Amino acid sequence: MTLHDLSDDELVAQLNDICLDARRLDARLIGYLVEVEDRRLHLKEACSSLFDFCVRRLHMSEGAAFRRINAARLTRRFPTLAGHLERGRVHLSTLVLLRDHLTEWNVDELIAVTEGKSKREIEDLLARRAPRPDVPARLRKLPASKANRPSDTATATAAATAPSVDGTPADGTPPNGTPAYGTAAYGTAAYGTPAYGTPPYGTPPAPRAAAPARIEPLSDARYRLQLTLTAEMRGKLERAVNLMRYRNPTGDLAVVVDRALDALLAKLEKERLGKTTRPRRASPKNAPRHRPAGAVPTAVRREVFARDGEQCTFVDREGRRCTARAFLELDHVESRALGGSNHAANLRVLCRGHNGLHAEEVFGREYVSRAVRRRQRKPEPPHREYVLTPR
Ligand SMILES: [Zn+2]
Repeated sequence: MTLHDLSDDELVAQLNDICLDARRLDARLIGYLVEVEDRRLHLKEACSSLFDFCVRRLHMSEGAAFRRINAARLTRRFPTLAGHLERGRVHLSTLVLLRDHLTEWNVDELIAVTEGKSKREIEDLLARRAPRPDVPARLRKLPASKANRPSDTATATAAATAPSVDGTPADGTPPNGTPAYGTAAYGTAAYGTPAYGTPPYGTPPAPRAAAPARIEPLSDARYRLQLTLTAEMRGKLERAVNLMRYRNPTGDLAVVVDRALDALLAKLEKERLGKTTRPRRASPKNAPRHRPAGAVPTAVRREVFARDGEQCTFVDREGRRCTARAFLELDHVESRALGGSNHAANLRVLCRGHNGLHAEEVFGREYVSRAVRRRQRKPEPPHREYVLTPR
């Protein structure tokens, strides 16, 4: 019997069993790592650190090694974590977020309140519990490196990190913003053993490309935004700062970003959701000339997005609604090709994945994949909908 022969329910049930086995295996593996380190076996294996041992001897990726060693050391301090890991109440990546917050008094409570939460939800929760001060907005130049020097374009970062005299962020991240493993961020300080995050052979790490953009919660409803700008973007930003100096005399970047987002959102709402400051009722007379035949009128589009709350409306058998708010599309409940109308009652907002699923249920997978391939060869129209017409 192959996977193809299983029913949907059997497939999902077996996948759940596999996930359970994987968690048990990970919990066992972590127990072994604790024992290996206690016995110093990694050193006896000629590895400079447990990290080195995991990567070179056990062939783990650096990320997997980091997460498992973190879990192993926390499990040694808080033995109840082993059971939580095995039961899937906490993930290895959650333990990375929690590692500086766990104490023997709060360990079980913190696992309980973070169970099933996303990374962002956990970061928000931790920021509320242990608020950090706001950081002032600022612009600083990144050190040039091979990786982030695109020809003659200077690179700068609008990193809203606390300023310091030498340009190093006060949070201790290196100037190029590289987080996590492989750097000081989880080298010596965090674990007390000699730098398992440093390169095993004493070679300096290759300079990374510009730090990825990220938003990090600081405290309740306060966030730090960090991103990398090209010289051209920096020029635009400085021009915007200068042009609005009369109402933002200090040139606060946060004020400029706020106004820029307002302007961008107004434009995107008009393009994607059909919003307007002067709404007109839907009628053939009002239809813009460039709209393709059969397209949903702007007023209807606006109504459906507002009704569905700009979120995918797919609901599973347990009544859980899809949380997608990106890549949203309008879906005809009764397909256009089968005579479905463009009235709001026949339309709903679905994410791309669920829209595709519905199309496959109606037209079959083979037909939809052909339609998608066809569509990919054409430029995307401004209001994209899954309108499939049988040939
Ligand atoms: Zn969805």
